[in-house]
Amino acid sequence: MSGLSSLSCLSRQLALYRPGSWSAYSVIFKQLKGLRRCSTIPVAQNLQETVNAQISGNEYEISFKEATFDNAFLRDVCSCRKCVDTSTQQKRFSTGEIPLDVHPKSAVQANENKEYEITWTAQGSEDHVSVYSQERIEQLASPLWRYNNRWRFTRDTMLWDAKTLKENLVSRSYNDYMKEDEAFKDVVLGLYSTGLAFITGAPTTECTSDLEIVVENIARKIGYIKETFYGTSWDVITLPDAKNIAYTSENLPLHMDLLYYESPPGVQLLHCIANSAEGGESVYADSFHVAYKLLEVDPISFYTLTTFPITFHYRNDGYHYVCTRPLIELDNFYTNPTPEHVPVRIKCVNYSPPFQAPFEHFVTKSETAEDHVEFRTFIRAFKAFESILYNTSELFETRFKPGDVALFMNRRVLHSRREFRLPPATDRDNNDGNFGRWLKGTYLDIDSFYSKLRQLSGL
Ligand SMILES: [Zn+2]
Repeated sequence: MSGLSSLSCLSRQLALYRPGSWSAYSVIFKQLKGLRRCSTIPVAQNLQETVNAQISGNEYEISFKEATFDNAFLRDVCSCRKCVDTSTQQKRFSTGEIPLDVHPKSAVQANENKEYEITWTAQGSEDHVSVYSQERIEQLASPLWRYNNRWRFTRDTMLWDAKTLKENLVSRSYNDYMKEDEAFKDVVLGLYSTGLAFITGAPTTECTSDLEIVVENIARKIGYIKETFYGTSWDVITLPDAKNIAYTSENLPLHMDLLYYESPPGVQLLHCIANSAEGGESVYADSFHVAYKLLEVDPISFYTLTTFPITFHYRNDGYHYVCTRPLIELDNFYTNPTPEHVPVRIKCVNYSPPFQAPFEHFVTKSETAEDHVEFRTFIRAFKAFESILYNTSELFETRFKPGDVALFMNRRVLHSRREFRLPPATDRDNNDGNFGRWLKGTYLDIDSFYSKLRQLSGL
């Protein structure tokens, strides 16, 4: 059974269980672990011992003792110059062009360079010669290699509560970040690892002396800016008649930004230019830590939250954005490469109560089909998530000093701001616009962030 179908089948089963039964939880959790293990195949260490054995091919597949590849797969990964353009590295044929009867013309053996040369043959098409190094074969056979090839840096992912974060939070000075490769790398890797990093001692002005916006410069060092309807960067200042709760002095509860977008920004940067407000502390929480905790103690609620659709919207000031997503999104194509990895990989969490629209699914009795999660079951699960989240040990609280820059992963780390009071205008910091509390923010495109992260991790 594939991971995908096992999950949807599971959600149907989950609907049958009433919360409160611990035995039901453990039965389902065991089932889950069992289902995931089905897709695990021997890892690289085993293969390295056995791959030297002579390989043999038949009509459908080639066996490397421990790993058996489909002939069509091996043909598809041929990297000869006819198949992959040497300059662009782009594939020059479609997988759909591979004849399903493709097979090696003769027995396959390693040559003196430990390479496997295979002449592929199929009815009605020309023979094609492919060469695979032993190393390449071992890589292709290893789920761990495939995982590391994309996600090696995730080994350093650190789920946190406030205490763990305080011990591991990366914070570097603005000058080091801008000029020293190591400090820059520390911030990018630290930002991925805990989802939050700080830069201190940045200019306490909006722009540098070259009239470039400070926070945009910091972001562009990593990747592309994700422009939104707020612009390439935006001000968080207190305004009368605010169109967004962020522009008031009210308490702003934990949330993520722009979940009503099809592609919400992956990283957010906030640069503090002035802060003479009383209160207004920033609070952060690791939603992944909360979600994995929920999986441990209440897997039914966890899986309920991976399926139930929540609609987010922004309809104000001439804009109308809407998007529907579950609270917890899993990476459905994740395979567990080693036993010590968690059975599921959370791709992102979507939690932003201030921007929720009315629910659009399963809200009337006639819409609640038998195999769907009921609205009340969802609410119970949502409450379970929030009861872990709002535990004070999960909440990291800090206060912006002028020159501080917070960088955080918007699809993982929740942020909020406590209510604040501004001192009388005459006592305020006299920076540029005379605002008592002025943050300048920007967003970073997530793909360019990951590209930089892989490059810095040597992938
Ligand atoms: Zn080829």
